[in-house]
Amino acid sequence: MSRFWTDTVRRLTPYVPGEQRQGDGIVKLNTNENPYPPSPEVFKAIAAVAGDELRRYPDPESTALCQTLANYHGLGLDEVFVGNGSDEILALSFLGFFTGGPALQFPAVSYSFYPVYCDLYDIPQRPIPLTDKFEIRLDNFTVNDGCIIFPNPNAPTGRALSRKAIRTLLERHTEYLVVVDEAYIDFGAESAIPLIKEYPNLLVSQTFSKGRSLAGMRIGAAFAQASLIEGLKRVKNSFNSYPIDVLAQRAAVASLNDDDYFRQTVAAVIDTRTECIRELQLRGFDVLPSAANFVFARPTKSSAQAVFEILNKQNILVRYWSREPIAEWLRISIGTPQDMAKMFAALDALVS
Ligand code: PMP
Repeated sequence: MSRFWTDTVRRLTPYVPGEQRQGDGIVKLNTNENPYPPSPEVFKAIAAVAGDELRRYPDPESTALCQTLANYHGLGLDEVFVGNGSDEILALSFLGFFTGGPALQFPAVSYSFYPVYCDLYDIPQRPIPLTDKFEIRLDNFTVNDGCIIFPNPNAPTGRALSRKAIRTLLERHTEYLVVVDEAYIDFGAESAIPLIKEYPNLLVSQTFSKGRSLAGMRIGAAFAQASLIEGLKRVKNSFNSYPIDVLAQRAAVASLNDDDYFRQTVAAVIDTRTECIRELQLRGFDVLPSAANFVFARPTKSSAQAVFEILNKQNILVRYWSREPIAEWLRISIGTPQDMAKMFAALDALVS
């Protein structure tokens, strides 16, 4: 605390990311990173960047990347925006679209950055209760009374809404924006991007951090009708002209151009997820269905906190929140089959 802090800084409760523990032998299943490296094409693209390009500022609009994304999704260049991770896109969206209105509606169990941005920008919040199985119920949102944001699939639950359900929400909720945070969309849920042309009230955000193994490069993307994208650009250009560096722009394009590799690694994660759910259930865990690269699981033979702590001591990191209603649950990212085997060996040792 410093006497030079403003009242705003004083009252903030910043987001706490999962631990980035360094060292050998760490099984890192706590921040939903992809266990596989990015495409070899990404490394070639980074190596091909000339010194002169680093001397200069990058393209402030990341045009080549936005055009590649537009082609990939069948959208126009003016329907695409990129940011320094999808967290930045969320931050710009909260500022650009949610301030000054009625309370923002988001699931009561959801991405814990949403309330942090609300506090930062003084946006009132209305947490929306989930079912007892942590499903989002469309009827629980108040129609046309404040913007809505939710991850699809939701985090940390992994549960997904269908595109049909999202369409129903968009049809009802025409007076306020609906932001679908698709950070984990690559692992099996239906993207809302095909709805963009029809619905001016929809903004979709995605990331290169999960399915594309590029969390370290910080690249996110947003998709919406041109007027919303223009709004994001106005906010971005009032804050930071060059959020995406040259290496990240090239890496992202190379990743998009190697779709085979992307599909293979995502398929491998999905296979391991299926196996992981089975193995957890064999050991008496309740596991929610997951469309993400993590599972949300509740140990029934000891407390979630005890399991978290014992794994943690053995350098096996999973995510645990002590708050209700999720204090008996663990979020376990899907690693390689070898990572998962180490976790299961530790769980078995715990039981015996
Ligand atoms: N949305 C959700 C639901 C997330 O879990 C994350 C990752 N923590 C993000 C957005 C942000 O990811 P990134 O900034 O790496 O794109």
